[in-house]
Amino acid sequence: MTKSLPSITESVETRSRSQIVDLTDRVQRIVQRERVEDGLVIVFVPHTTAAITINENADPDVKHDLLRKLETLIPKDEPYYQHGEGNSDSHVKTSLVGSSVTVLIEGGKLVLGTWQGIHFCEFDGPRERTFLVKIVSFEAPSGD
Ligand code: ZN
Repeated sequence: MTKSLPSITESVETRSRSQIVDLTDRVQRIVQRERVEDGLVIVFVPHTTAAITINENADPDVKHDLLRKLETLIPKDEPYYQHGEGNSDSHVKTSLVGSSVTVLIEGGKLVLGTWQGIHFCEFDGPRERTFLVKIVSFEAPSGD
């Protein structure tokens, strides 16, 4: 039987224009708090200049290199940008990286590879941001 839990809104404060924040432990704690053994969790970022992805959390240099590469590929200023806010690069990066990730839950734990972490990607900070956590639980059928 499938049970959908109400979505949970969490906040995250970023400290620079581009920054990756590891949310893995926070998401794992929410899964444990909700006592979900078997299911899936969707982490959604409701912003147009911040995103979410899964990548390496062992070596912090990977976060640095990803942000630097995106900055090289998508410069802050281009002569053809029309968006008046001056953050077109942030919008482009957000669309490329994406707004949600889905992770399986088994035995009460997130199913992630050894080196994988859930990373919030700030592309127009520093700001107070939010992300949503939605858990779907696959409960064992009750009774016979
Ligand atoms: Zn904008």
